[in-house]
Amino acid sequence: MLSVEEARDRILATARPTEAEAVGLEQAAGRVPVSFEVLAAVDVPPFANSAMDGFALRAADAPGELRLIGEVAAGSRLLPRVTQGEAVRIATGAPLPPGADTVVAIEDAGEMGEGRVRVPAVAAGTHVRPAGGDTRAGDRVALPAEPLAPASIAVLASLGLGEVSVRRRPVVAILSSGDELAAPGTSLEPGQIHDANSAALAAAVVEGGGEPWLLPRAPDDPAVIERVVAQGAADADLLLASGGMSVGRHDHVRGVIERLGALDFWRIRVQPGKPLAFGSVAGRPVIGLPGNPVSALVTFELFGRPLLRAMLGLPGDGRLHLSACLEEHLRKDPARPAYLRVTVRRGPDGWLARGAGGQGSAQLRGLAAANALLIVPEGEPAGEAGRTYDALVTGSLA
Ligand code: AMP
Ligand code: MG
Repeated sequence: MLSVEEARDRILATARPTEAEAVGLEQAAGRVPVSFEVLAAVDVPPFANSAMDGFALRAADAPGELRLIGEVAAGSRLLPRVTQGEAVRIATGAPLPPGADTVVAIEDAGEMGEGRVRVPAVAAGTHVRPAGGDTRAGDRVALPAEPLAPASIAVLASLGLGEVSVRRRPVVAILSSGDELAAPGTSLEPGQIHDANSAALAAAVVEGGGEPWLLPRAPDDPAVIERVVAQGAADADLLLASGGMSVGRHDHVRGVIERLGALDFWRIRVQPGKPLAFGSVAGRPVIGLPGNPVSALVTFELFGRPLLRAMLGLPGDGRLHLSACLEEHLRKDPARPAYLRVTVRRGPDGWLARGAGGQGSAQLRGLAAANALLIVPEGEPAGEAGRTYDALVTGSLA
């Protein structure tokens, strides 16, 4: 059985970035730029302007009493020339008029009426934002290698760009299978449970930057599964199937992947999530996730999310990894590394972790309450109180 790292390497080796498409900046939130470096075509700001509401003047004339000869507002085009002994009333963002080299803020000046203002001594350039002071035309502007956040979008806008070239969101087909599954919102027949994986995986795909496409839920019928898997693989960038991956008499999904395409591996050393499968159908990657919802979401986190990011041109998993001291004893399978559902919080000497609830692979509330997965290595029978482990932070630490 492969380790988590080996399995992830095998999966990531198949990743192809999606093609580029242009989107308007107003639609660019969370999209991933094709290039994380932009060449500035203009100076930002484009002209020298005032950082304060106040008076523009020549620093050489201060301190003193100056004659007010006019006013410039933000957006003004007509700029009076400031000569010796003169000042111009100026608004924040207004162009610095020719001749002036300095701005004295309103609160530091004394207006005297009759068009005169008294100003204190001031260093040249005070409260002036020079042209190109933020970015010069020709500069290479680096953006973080992450989905576009509001500040990066503001940078692009300030550079005058109306649109940005981004990776198409990978379409991720989601197939849940099992005779027992009923749609949430419907009442259950005897023996049925509500399908948790379809909606949960759709949410995880959105969080990872993909576009979920929910395929019709399939019963444990190989012919139906085959039809839906073929449909999903034909029209998606990635197929996530959950359930029916194991060795039971009603587990058909793995067999279908083998029949329609190729299975690369099946089963990995991890808890939860051992029955993970990976292969391809019609040249498209297929991840077979375990049916248990906790296992499905944890394995999506470990494998699906990095694959989606690689398709978007992003490195790694985009998660914070930290060391946390476990505050209680949590049992696990000694043969496999465990990704325990924990809440991590800041303690006086570092991060502290506690179990977030039941650790069973069908116990969803512990996963929902957790903000991190605590990684207890294989070979160890338990996470031990007082020991420090790596934690993969999936939620908020606030
Ligand atoms: P399987 O992988 O099909 O053997 O399923 C393992 C366990 O996960 C069983 O208890 C299933 O009922 C449950 N399960 C499978 N798919 C889902 C799903 N979509 N939502 C909730 N539970 C599921
Ligand atoms: Mg099943």
